[in-house]
Amino acid sequence: MSNIPSLTLNTNASMPLLGLGVYKATAPGEVEGAIATALDLGYRLIDTASAYKNEEGVGRGIRSSSVPRKELFITTKLWNTAQRIGDIDGAFQRSLDRLGLDYVDLYLIHWASANYIETWKAMEEVYNAGKIKAIGVSNFQIHHLEDLMSHTEIIPMINQIETHPAFPQDELRAFMAQHAIIHEAWGPLGQGKNDLLTQAVLLELAEQYGKTPAQIVLRWHIERGIVVIPKSVTPSRIRENRDIFDFSLSKEDMDKVATLNTGERYSGNPDDQEFLTRTSIRPN
Ligand code: NAD
Repeated sequence: MSNIPSLTLNTNASMPLLGLGVYKATAPGEVEGAIATALDLGYRLIDTASAYKNEEGVGRGIRSSSVPRKELFITTKLWNTAQRIGDIDGAFQRSLDRLGLDYVDLYLIHWASANYIETWKAMEEVYNAGKIKAIGVSNFQIHHLEDLMSHTEIIPMINQIETHPAFPQDELRAFMAQHAIIHEAWGPLGQGKNDLLTQAVLLELAEQYGKTPAQIVLRWHIERGIVVIPKSVTPSRIRENRDIFDFSLSKEDMDKVATLNTGERYSGNPDDQEFLTRTSIRPN
């Protein structure tokens, strides 16, 4: 049983508000161990990608658990190379094969690289054929979403974007809310960068609520209605990140966390064409 709260997608499927991120969990047995711990603690959402090179391990982790497939919410993502060569069906099928699954709950375009409109049309077809329960995008800016929505049928159900107190994405978040696109945060803890978790504001709130700075940050996302997928392979942290549903932050304390906004990304810019071009030729 899981008592992690969920939201309801426009397909009527439930999506947990908290999942396990598995980026960089590629050491032998690492992702399997993290998934075993997480599923025992009630996590049901696992966020991987073909680019993470650990879909096989995710599949093994899922198969070794006794949690029924229908209770899980498995996300994977289409890499830029497949977009360049237009091999959407093939890339999706290879992800399914590596995962050992016959469907995924959410399939995302990883970055808005060249051809994202054609890619989305191909994903709409796979979705309409019933092999993907929900489709969405990642790292899409307002201009990408506007472009996509004006050329295609289905509005992306989710946009997974870098979001944390230093880079709260307020403008994109408001645009997504207007179009009922669910906001999912990657790097929700700031990826362990720039001493985010040792900022005085967070240390003070942690003390006040009897929680850790990471729990304060994750709860701040939850209060904003954002789905979080913090990454850890350490059992104590996987547990810590899960224990965020027994308290809430006051409006005043939400405002205190908001003072950490610097407007600076910690990671890749979705409009960095050099990055998009370079990663489109990386095999996956
Ligand atoms: P994150 O913000 O989840 O930070 C992970 C880091 O924080 C790790 O170093 C981890 O050891 C540390 N950490 C975890 N729990 C902690 C705790 N309780 N206290 C202190 N430190 C803690 O960053 P992330 O992994 O980049 O993002 C989360 C997930 O989002 C990824 O694993 C991946 O699934 C996804 N992601 C997606 C994209 C994308 O382009 N769509 C990009 C990056 C990540």
